[in-house]
Amino acid sequence: MTQTLSDQLTPELAERTRVLLRGFGAEIPAPGDLTVRTPITGGQLLTIRADTEEQAHAAITRAATAFDAWRTVPAPGRAAVVRRLAELLTAHKTELGELVTLEAGKIGAEAVGEVQEMIDICEFAIGLSRQLYGRTMPSERPGHRLMETWHPLGVVGVISAFNFPVAVWAWNTALALVCGDTVVWKPSETTPLTALACHTLLRRAAVDVGVDPEVHQLIQGDSRIGAQLVDDERVALVSATGSVRMGRIVAPRVAQRFGRCLLELGGNNAAIVTPSADLELAARAIVFAAAGTAGQRCTTLRRLIVHADVAGPLTALIERAYRQLRVGNPLDDGVLVGPLIDQAAHDNMRIALERALADEGELVCGGERVEVFGDNGHYVRPALVRMPAQTAVVREETFAPILYVLTYHELEHAIALHNAVPQGLSSSIFTTDQREAERFLAADGSDCGIANVNIGTSGAEIGGAFGGEKQTGGGRESGSDSWKAYMRRATNTVNYSAELPLAQGIKFG
Ligand code: NAD
Repeated sequence: MTQTLSDQLTPELAERTRVLLRGFGAEIPAPGDLTVRTPITGGQLLTIRADTEEQAHAAITRAATAFDAWRTVPAPGRAAVVRRLAELLTAHKTELGELVTLEAGKIGAEAVGEVQEMIDICEFAIGLSRQLYGRTMPSERPGHRLMETWHPLGVVGVISAFNFPVAVWAWNTALALVCGDTVVWKPSETTPLTALACHTLLRRAAVDVGVDPEVHQLIQGDSRIGAQLVDDERVALVSATGSVRMGRIVAPRVAQRFGRCLLELGGNNAAIVTPSADLELAARAIVFAAAGTAGQRCTTLRRLIVHADVAGPLTALIERAYRQLRVGNPLDDGVLVGPLIDQAAHDNMRIALERALADEGELVCGGERVEVFGDNGHYVRPALVRMPAQTAVVREETFAPILYVLTYHELEHAIALHNAVPQGLSSSIFTTDQREAERFLAADGSDCGIANVNIGTSGAEIGGAFGGEKQTGGGRESGSDSWKAYMRRATNTVNYSAELPLAQGIKFG
């Protein structure tokens, strides 16, 4: 019977996808070799044609040509297109969120939240367009002025992952555009339709405000098409979001041609819970961070490092919440955990759990498949696993909802365990003791790009710089001064005197 439900539902979802695309003003793509599936049933939504190498090359050429004029538009003028994009995103918020659910499987609240994040970064970028400040420094020479100016960089290649199919693009594109760059976007091959929707809205925004729509290009396909951005010397910055495996290939290739890279790679995020923590608050934050988006956020909480005195009660609170989590169709109200993206994700989860149990881990709850549409779609209950030690599988990022629980006695040991993984994205401490909190945030505390107190590891705001250290890649996107990655800096010394003094007091001739 569930098989029948899924058979009925997939064509409905495919039709709904077409309706949504038309609503954004997008043309329904011609059928092609790239199959787009919905993780809700695993069924086919559409097929589209991947771009050829020649088409990708031509898109980069168009972006490079558009850059020549775009870089001379004053930054506040460039913000007009971002302002219009924000208006269009606001008008289409619910529909774009629905498309994210259909294509990536996120529950409605998280999908619409992702669109809100796009609107937020647009607003940030509009304000930023009047704040691309350079410094003026005192010159050591009389009659001289020393200053820095910031200039557009060129073509920015954006490579994005399936799990934030629209927000990560917006983080990059809103900033790149006000900084005077043009953009070529290669979205995940798993989520090309949300990309088509965003591309259409941006081009529409450009036309509405009289900007050349060629400032934004979309190229579709797998890693071979992504590689074109990586290897093309005209692409000044490659901003790549995805796995560490991808970053290992991309970074040296971009470096080889002296291009710039902004890497946002995998995380293996942990929270320390100390004896003074508010356990109820901690448990709520932990459940959202570990089980939200079915464990498919780069900032998902994967390791819990709990003081032995509170490990029992905290684990019990989390277990109780886990057993109540509704797993199911992300389009249904009340569902909190949607599907995994595909079979491979499910296999990886299963294998990781087997390895954890072989390492003498103890499954507290979860991990089993949930039959929402029979064999179709990959639905799982989030898993909670007590581990005697931080073994190899715990140090890896498994992109699925598995929360490993480790215990500690001394805070120093907890911090050491926390940092003893190759990734360095997000981290938290739950405590009401200010000394413990400050210890965690200190130079020899958490080694991550994001370190929080009394909130979970996921759900960052756009106002702060986002990114992580070590194998997470070192990039920073979104707020604060992340914009500097999208511009080039020039140091200018102006001599307004009639003399020619040399720096360092050098006399020449
Ligand atoms: P993935 O690495 O498989 O793919 C990401 C993107 O890179 C896709 O567009 C893919 O086509 C492209 N790609 C892969 N190999 C490439 C190559 N050799 N050259 C050029 N492009 C290439 O990742 P995924 O499965 O889509 O996403 C999940 C991963 O992304 C997780 O590891 C997650 O932690 C990470 N992620 C990180 C952040 C962050 O901000 N740090 C955000 C979201 C996701």
